[in-house]
Amino acid sequence: MKAALLPELPADSLRVADHPDPLPAADELLVAVTACGICGTDLHILAGESYRPQLPFVLGHEPVGTVLSSGSGDGEAWVGRRVTITIFTGCGRCERCRRGDERLCQVRPRATGVLERWGGFAERVVIGISQAVDVPGGLADATAAALVDAGRRPPTRSGPSPPWTNEPARQLWRAAVP
Ligand SMILES: [Zn+2]
Ligand SMILES: [Zn+2]
Repeated sequence: MKAALLPELPADSLRVADHPDPLPAADELLVAVTACGICGTDLHILAGESYRPQLPFVLGHEPVGTVLSSGSGDGEAWVGRRVTITIFTGCGRCERCRRGDERLCQVRPRATGVLERWGGFAERVVIGISQAVDVPGGLADATAAALVDAGRRPPTRSGPSPPWTNEPARQLWRAAVP
């Protein structure tokens, strides 16, 4: 696949390079990316002012694409579906995960395209089955990608910015469910 690699930090550009397609593990899906949002967070990472993933790294936490294959029978039902992701994954068992705040998982917080898991600035991305979210039929790929992480507002005098969460992606999913 072609991937836009983050070669260094700070960086003012990404380097497009050929890279072997990633392989989904048993609890993962391989997705052909059709669109990926670009976010202020990406720009802060590039500037070296935010998360510092291990390099080289592929950014892009707002991907949309079609599921090509599943690492096991567990994800078979997702193959062929158009999906996006919940950005954060956690252990799924701790108190914070159970109340839907995987970002603050007390055991193993991970963020696709931000830390550890390579993201969607590439032709292929691997996502966890538990992250997959159906994209509503009426939404264009690029529109859906812009909504995955939407809805935050900057801090104001009346209060801080709401926390970065999986909630926008979950709202997309609710809209997709008839
Ligand atoms: Zn974002
Ligand atoms: Zn957890």
